Amino acid sequence: MTGGATLTIDLGAVVANWRLLAGRVAPAECAAVVKADAYGLGAARVAPALAAAGCRTFFVAQPGEALALRALLPESTICCLGGLPPGAADAFAHARVRPVLNHLGEIEAWAARGRAAGVRLDAAVHIDTGMNRLGLGPDELETLAREPHRLDGIAVTHWISHLACAEADVAMNARQLGRFRMALARLPAAPASFANSSGVFLGRAFHFDLARPGVALYGANPTPGLPNPMAGVVRLDATVLQVRNVDSPMTVGYGATHRVERKGKLATVSVGYADGYLRSASGRGCVRASGAPAPVVGRVSMDLITVDVTDVPEGLVFPGATVEVMGPNRPVDAVAEDAGAIAYEILTSLGARYARVYLEPPCAEAALQ
Ligand SMILES: *Cc1c(COP(=O)(O)O)cnc(C)c1O
Repeated sequence: MTGGATLTIDLGAVVANWRLLAGRVAPAECAAVVKADAYGLGAARVAPALAAAGCRTFFVAQPGEALALRALLPESTICCLGGLPPGAADAFAHARVRPVLNHLGEIEAWAARGRAAGVRLDAAVHIDTGMNRLGLGPDELETLAREPHRLDGIAVTHWISHLACAEADVAMNARQLGRFRMALARLPAAPASFANSSGVFLGRAFHFDLARPGVALYGANPTPGLPNPMAGVVRLDATVLQVRNVDSPMTVGYGATHRVERKGKLATVSVGYADGYLRSASGRGCVRASGAPAPVVGRVSMDLITVDVTDVPEGLVFPGATVEVMGPNRPVDAVAEDAGAIAYEILTSLGARYARVYLEPPCAEAALQ
């Protein structure tokens, strides 16, 4: 009994999604991206469930995430997308964290650490093919291609690159693929990694040796415009705190932005922008009350939303009842669209106040390994 909202995270669905993606890219390996606390769902629960299902390689963004994950997963490969911050080489080497080296300075620091220890330290190296965010740009690529001894002290496990519009732009994907292939041809031979979630669905040419899906593991649709091949992972049920009948025209909520014109019924629900129910869903969102759509009216408050339940059959909405804010009838992509956001934002904004319930994968699945 929370009086607030309950977030149910189906680890069995996360595992099923990873298996589906792994099947699509086989014989390439399928990693799992668990940065930002597994996109808000809890890396401490998600990553071990995936490891038990056979996932061997995990990507995070930041050093703190990498070290925390190492404590949970002593055997797994842990890659840090954010690279090698100054002074982090010792900590990374000790924790066997594999940096994704993004520029020549990081390559130099990691190579020096390897040479000092008389070993070759594992690292992935990021090649920019059009994101212009992280990775070696054309000049640095040129330098590294001419001076491969800069890698002495490093065992390059993967050359990686990242798609800018995997879910949408066919021409851009082809350009990036071409640039990536050209770069690989000029660099010392090593496995390669290119595809994020949507990249997995672009076909063999994009799979290389290691796929790096994130958001699809958590139930978002990696193929917008087509049916979602992924299983839903997140369910959010919020408590109705009060129900009121409105029989004369009046306004609802802060700013009095919504005016009720007809006789009807409103329910006040215990979720708000402090929980990650974005304020931009004001007047646009929609929840399900006993399966019936109930639109959000007026502004989203810090702790509350008001929904119109006029059309929900009598007796189904009452204080203490719950409504489905997100779930099978209201997938994360729909919630995102209501708020003018993307599924990534909705997931990583999921609030700290929710009571969290994890559904474990069926034992039989874990026992397969
Ligand atoms: C976040 C990230 C991914 C995962 O992307 P999704 O779209 O969530 O599948 C893969 N690679 C890199 C470099 C990333 O930053």
